[in-house]
Amino acid sequence: MTEYEIACQGKSRFPTWRAAKKRANQIRREGGPAMRPYPCDFGPHFHVGHRPGHANYLRHGQPLEPTP
Ligand SMILES: [Zn+2]
Repeated sequence: MTEYEIACQGKSRFPTWRAAKKRANQIRREGGPAMRPYPCDFGPHFHVGHRPGHANYLRHGQPLEPTP
């Protein structure tokens, strides 16, 4: 599997950011995960999802605790 197939081909594509955001809101309303629209790296369109490298919280199973 190429990066293109993972990051673009296998996902829904949206022609505009607004269309992608509309879909993201719909998913959220239906009880789905919080998604966000982002511009595709491979073409002039948008996807909805978790951008690779963006979800950096709880990466090691430990929540970040603020120092007192
Ligand atoms: Zn794409």
